[in-house]
Amino acid sequence: MNNFFDTKIEFLKGVGPTKGTLLNKELNIFTYGDLIQYYPFRYEDRTKFHKIAEANGSMPYIQLKGKLRHYEMLGSPRKRRLVAHLVDDTGEIELVWFQGAQWVLKKLQPGVEYVVFGKPNLFGSKLNIAHPEIELATKQNVETSYLQPVYSTTETLKRKYIDSKGISKMLRTLLAEALKRLKETLPVALQQQYTLMSKPAAISNIHFPENQELLFKAQFRLKFEELFYVQIRLLKLKIARIDKFRGIVFNNADLLNRFYNEHLPFDLTNAQKKVIKEIYADLRSGKQMNRLLQGDVGSGKTIVAFICMLIAIGCDTQAALMAPTEILATQHYHGLKDFADKMGLRIALLTGSTKKSERRIIHDYLKSGELHILVGTHALLEEVVQFKRLGLAIVDEQHRFGVAQRSRLWQKNEGLFPHVLVMTATPIPRTLAMTLYGDLDISTIDELPAGRKPIMTVHRYDANRLKVNSFIKEQIELGRQVYVVYPLIEESEKLDLKDLMDGYESVARAFPDVPLSIVHGKMKPDAKEYEMQRFVKGETKIMVATTVIEVGVNVPNASVMIIENAERFGLAQLHQLRGRVGRGADQSYCILISDYKLSKEARIRIDTMVRTNNGFEIADTDLQLRGPGDLMGTQQSGVLDLLIADLGRDGKILQAARGAAQDILDKDPNLNSPENQNIKIQVASMKKTAINWSRIS
Ligand code: ADP
Ligand code: MG
Repeated sequence: MNNFFDTKIEFLKGVGPTKGTLLNKELNIFTYGDLIQYYPFRYEDRTKFHKIAEANGSMPYIQLKGKLRHYEMLGSPRKRRLVAHLVDDTGEIELVWFQGAQWVLKKLQPGVEYVVFGKPNLFGSKLNIAHPEIELATKQNVETSYLQPVYSTTETLKRKYIDSKGISKMLRTLLAEALKRLKETLPVALQQQYTLMSKPAAISNIHFPENQELLFKAQFRLKFEELFYVQIRLLKLKIARIDKFRGIVFNNADLLNRFYNEHLPFDLTNAQKKVIKEIYADLRSGKQMNRLLQGDVGSGKTIVAFICMLIAIGCDTQAALMAPTEILATQHYHGLKDFADKMGLRIALLTGSTKKSERRIIHDYLKSGELHILVGTHALLEEVVQFKRLGLAIVDEQHRFGVAQRSRLWQKNEGLFPHVLVMTATPIPRTLAMTLYGDLDISTIDELPAGRKPIMTVHRYDANRLKVNSFIKEQIELGRQVYVVYPLIEESEKLDLKDLMDGYESVARAFPDVPLSIVHGKMKPDAKEYEMQRFVKGETKIMVATTVIEVGVNVPNASVMIIENAERFGLAQLHQLRGRVGRGADQSYCILISDYKLSKEARIRIDTMVRTNNGFEIADTDLQLRGPGDLMGTQQSGVLDLLIADLGRDGKILQAARGAAQDILDKDPNLNSPENQNIKIQVASMKKTAINWSRIS
């Protein structure tokens, strides 16, 4: 019965083997079903005719109807253009062609009425439309009102006459047969609750909407459906895991209490307490924990991580923390070591550059259980790294670990899986977290420790460097320390290193008496560490660095962050960098330096940074600017390959869909009840095709 939709595209009338192969190659369209899901990316509004006098330069594409008064070729012989004058009862507008005039000319007859479609532009004081679509006015095109779908296509396809119109024609042919065969894919109850259009109506209207309202309804229905099934599958994974994986029960808080009573260096914020409670409830529950811990830069995730480790260690198990880079792992190690030392716990660092002899000792102590905490990079995942009993695995992933890697850490234990806590250093917008980490529970630290002064952020142009320098000087005289950061983009590391070295020299020239440190990715770990330590100890006052310092460095006395070429950084990075200051009692500053020439997006990024310190707000803007795929890096974008929904814009629909999915699974986790059969069938048919989902474990 479903076979119709699996029919090869070449069998569609008017396609055939040659075009079929092209559609396979160029657009990934193999079957009727694929073509049906090849949605337009925009629509041309052919629902009404504007009067020429109404047209203005800020309008999008519009449709006009008028008589051709006359036309002429203008310009120098090498830059000829065809200009036609269209009039209606309200005014006149120029239609201009710079190319292909000879083709257009054939169609033009003065005194005849035409339908014209294009974007009006103001050229000097005159309105014109460059390269409009133009056809003779007929009863057909004058009287039918519709939105014309526009499909994306490729140059290769266009050469074979498969342009947007061609695809639209194929869809007309296909839908004539397909619509009556399309089955509803959502339960009736949901359709009623959210007033969703039926599936066939939605498909019909997404391709050939009669008006805006129907188009909107079709989009809403299809977005809802798409997000609903993403959530159903994520939540089903979660249910399956909870059923399958029991967790070690941690019910001894002695160690934790001792730390609280004797060594806690400050009062925890309410947000920290809240997430610790959430985590502890998981750890005691007998089910394996899979939780995401997110919190803004400086919100105090390290101590939360340590407290969770204490719970695990207090119950005779070990804890591990894996970070994506060596620098970050090292920073975590130092942060945790202070606490561990106070508690008399053994902690070690394992990275790619750990010496062989040291490694062997670590391996031995891990196996014997003498080592309580292991911090490291993905070196932790190697086969030889064997724990006596791993109870808690913390992954600080900063979006950099794939889900597959995350799950390898679980398998370090025979018998029960360890509990897993995923930490992210950058806040993730709620909508994205729901999808990307939709199979995890989420805890959020949404409060900074008391007494922090908000960092003041300003934007300065290169030309104001002298002023910036005198500000830096003032701050150093006050006893503060300063970071100066240069961008590092991997493809052009040489160039960037040159930027950095030039920068270093100019800083050295501007501050001849001030001791400087320099740190970049090409340095040996020892040398890097040495320079970092000089800065940490206050021996040097200015740290010139690439983004290697982006993560984890904690120098409370550093209160000024200068970011050079700020336009070259992404928002998340800027926010991370800024988070390196504002950690002590002093007022901190972040100065974003850029060229005068800024792209629109760069300006939005810089303005956002100046306007707010709130990481969640910044993450939201970032999501709007870049889209979810880019935001998370390609590694995880598999989950985010959505056909129609847009996580940046469709947050509300996503929440509704998630709520609906949760409700249904709460009542009927195995989807056995009759009203949920639509869902069950759909989930089963998706399993066959969705390769991406194997990434989620
Ligand atoms: P992040 O969440 O960015 O990893 P850290 O754990 O590095 O933040 O904490 C940032 C700084 O705030 C550290 O110097 C830490 O000691 C301090 N800190 C954490 N929690 C508190 C608190 N409740 N009160 C005061 N300072 C805190
Ligand atoms: Mg941290």
